[in-house]
Amino acid sequence: MKMICADVGGTSVKAALISVGRRHLSQTYKIKKFCSVPTRSDLGFEGVRESVLKAISQVKEDDVADIVAIATAGEVDWDDGCVLRATIALPGFCGYAFSKDMSDRLGARVVVINDACAAAVCEHYFANKRARSTLVLTIGTGLGSALVTDGEIDGKHVYDLELGHREFVRDGYVCRCGNRGCLEQYLSATAIKRDAGKSTVKEAFTYTGEKNCIAAKNRFLSVLNKVATDAAAEFAPERILVGGGLAEMKNLWYDEFRARYGDVVSIARMGNKAGLLGAAYAALNGKFEDQ
Ligand SMILES: [Zn+2]
Repeated sequence: MKMICADVGGTSVKAALISVGRRHLSQTYKIKKFCSVPTRSDLGFEGVRESVLKAISQVKEDDVADIVAIATAGEVDWDDGCVLRATIALPGFCGYAFSKDMSDRLGARVVVINDACAAAVCEHYFANKRARSTLVLTIGTGLGSALVTDGEIDGKHVYDLELGHREFVRDGYVCRCGNRGCLEQYLSATAIKRDAGKSTVKEAFTYTGEKNCIAAKNRFLSVLNKVATDAAAEFAPERILVGGGLAEMKNLWYDEFRARYGDVVSIARMGNKAGLLGAAYAALNGKFEDQ
């Protein structure tokens, strides 16, 4: 069977048509069609909502199953698919009944989960199968964090840890959520670029003759080590994986991290499709009360 899934982030909305051979067999999930459109946060709530619908319509075919899986930035109520908290990356999404609204618009059953949870489900079930529990830190524009433990795919075994908005530095940098000193402001691509004074992480990590760039990289490595070490003590996951944009740039930092701090974290294997595939897997195999 074929189904549609989407991944809603602050910069782009990705959508895919996925073929699924058997629900519980992750190897049978294949991406058939893929598209990415700009999120258009600058156009406010309606702009983002239109981007989601546009991305979905670009991959839609007539004979797809009437279930749509959506992974989204922001904190999401597992049972009813409402957005509990969102940053300015998704304007007006706080309190938005995402699953119900999309279900009305698309005439399909729509399951909405947090994007870090989707990525963690994907890594746990597709790549990391023998682990008892998997914690994923999704480091990109922001910082996502989720833990999957063995058992049913439900709100008790898939946790959105929301570490990105924990206070890390008292009276620190202003965060996109409105608070100050959130961890996301110290462990993200945004933080690296700001500290290095560069417009891309690649520049920040390759301009090795510049003081600001060296400092930005050192800070990234040491904050990642501290966060992973603390998370290991607090949640005791079997593995901690780094996903998101920084995972795709692992050749620029990971060897150095390991040389300095050892095997505290590994690199996630499913790349930037993890949110899409994880959302699809959760929608088909998960337990949701009202979605
Ligand atoms: Zn924050």
